[in-house]
Amino acid sequence: MSGKFSINTQSIEDVAEFYAAIERGNLRHKISPERPYVYVTMEVYDMKNGIRGAGGLGVLAADTRRVAEQLEIPFVTLTPFYQEERHQKMNTLIPYDTAVKKTPIDFGFNEIGEVFIKVSDAPDAVLNIYEKILGSTRFLTMTEPEFGQLYSGDSSGDHRLYQMVSLGFGGYAALKMSGLKPAVIQLNETATVFATVARLDELCRNGMNIYEAIVYVRKHTLFTNHTLVQAADSEFTINQFNKFVFPNITSPALKHYIRGLFKNGCLRMSNLAIELAEAKNGVSRLHARIAEYYDLSGERVDFKAVTNGIDMNTWIMPGILEFYRNTEIIDKFDMPSNDYLEILEKVEPDLLREFKKMGRVILNKELETRKNQYGTIIQIPDDAMLFEFKRRFVEYKRPWMPFENIEELKAILRDNDAHYIMAGMMPGGMSTGDRTYDRIQEMLHAIADDEFLRERVHYITDYDENLSAAMSVGSDVSINVPEVGWEACGTSFMKDIANLTLLISTNDGGVADIEPPAVLEVKGKTYDEEVASLYDQMRLAAEMLRDDEKWIAEIRRQLGAYLPIISGTRMMQDYLKFLFKPENNN
Ligand SMILES: *Cc1c(COP(=O)(O)O)cnc(C)c1O
Repeated sequence: MSGKFSINTQSIEDVAEFYAAIERGNLRHKISPERPYVYVTMEVYDMKNGIRGAGGLGVLAADTRRVAEQLEIPFVTLTPFYQEERHQKMNTLIPYDTAVKKTPIDFGFNEIGEVFIKVSDAPDAVLNIYEKILGSTRFLTMTEPEFGQLYSGDSSGDHRLYQMVSLGFGGYAALKMSGLKPAVIQLNETATVFATVARLDELCRNGMNIYEAIVYVRKHTLFTNHTLVQAADSEFTINQFNKFVFPNITSPALKHYIRGLFKNGCLRMSNLAIELAEAKNGVSRLHARIAEYYDLSGERVDFKAVTNGIDMNTWIMPGILEFYRNTEIIDKFDMPSNDYLEILEKVEPDLLREFKKMGRVILNKELETRKNQYGTIIQIPDDAMLFEFKRRFVEYKRPWMPFENIEELKAILRDNDAHYIMAGMMPGGMSTGDRTYDRIQEMLHAIADDEFLRERVHYITDYDENLSAAMSVGSDVSINVPEVGWEACGTSFMKDIANLTLLISTNDGGVADIEPPAVLEVKGKTYDEEVASLYDQMRLAAEMLRDDEKWIAEIRRQLGAYLPIISGTRMMQDYLKFLFKPENNN
């Protein structure tokens, strides 16, 4: 086992059974192998299939396809294949990046053809299209040697636009090559919007009037937004469109229509996505409510909430998942059963403690292949209490929060014979003088300079999905403290709760779907109050861990509240219900 899990004991007779269970029996005629659900994403985090994303967006994309595969839903993921993959190591506490070369051939993809992307005043770019079929689903991926790394270059720069155009036009051409027509297109963030533009162009080319084509495409497109601030979105100039976009559109009417959307010579990708997608969603209740987006007429956009979920087969330790299934806490679709709360009430702590012991073994096995901040391999003692923090080291996630009061942290770790483990990629290209970089450096040096913390606090480099899974199963308490209002959803917290790890969290992202949040909540009106609250919750979590009854009560409370949210099948159900009406005439 390589940290990330995979068992599959599904016994769904046929996808029709799932459609019937969600009261959408008519979907059998709407989504078919020739007319699949098409999901477009700049990022997938699926190392088994050779594609390593940068964070939550890619994890979600990979999980969505896996859930579709288990449910036997015809589903296509359109995504670029990056031939260079970013890794992060550390030398004298300074992070540095390395790149690893990859090709789709190494991961069982088949080349099915090539697509030419036109660029004005430059030779065509040639994209190789690869396909990998996995059950009812497939990856269609496009690549070329100059494609670069994920998110390389400026977010409104030429190279980014070239990547977006390659994904959109190349991806749509790949669908045609495979003989597929989308039943629906889900745009995972705005960078994917050109898939919809390519579809519009095809309809116009086939003789449809541009306005009819827009109405049709709008009806069959979903824009999933993960960002909070519209200004953070990519924006391109008319000159950039003249160079990279318009040469790939054949319909003069479509070009004319898109030119009309520019304001002051610029167009934001969210504005284009909002124009071309009737259905729009945010990724948690809170996010859908607070994401403040406006369409080109100045009207505020209404986002429906479809909270992210995770693929249980991937993220839950096999023993725990089997237990959920055998006790019918979850049903054969991996959704909580009707009486899962009563079943949870009867669960004994001893069995769950055994699972956590097995989880520690899995974590230590993963750690044998890893290095800490000093370049050393570490192991967590079997009987030590373990706190963890695992998420990208960006400002709003505040990885340094537990280190604000070093003496307090030391006391908590010492009093409970506890260790603290953390992991998370640091943003690339930062250096001294950058606020986030400086705070991380300060934290790492504070740890290194203290004899006790040096032994008890471990930063593991090169964060990835295997490490994430291992940390969820092998830790006792997870710390999630995004600044409230900044986390769109987050899925790491779901991995923790599902693997019986107590969650300490601020009331943000998907955690805030439950009112009040059923976690050990960090709250406060000021940052200092939040820090004090975090230490209180760490002490409380430690107290629970030392007392079977308190521990199991908290596990029941957290798992009971969040299991329906965690279920990736629930997410898929929400999307299908949102996109397709129950009647036959949609
Ligand atoms: C689960 C996971 C994420 C998701 O992180 P959030 O901060 O919860 O959005 C990101 N990266 C990796 C490698 C993961 O496994």
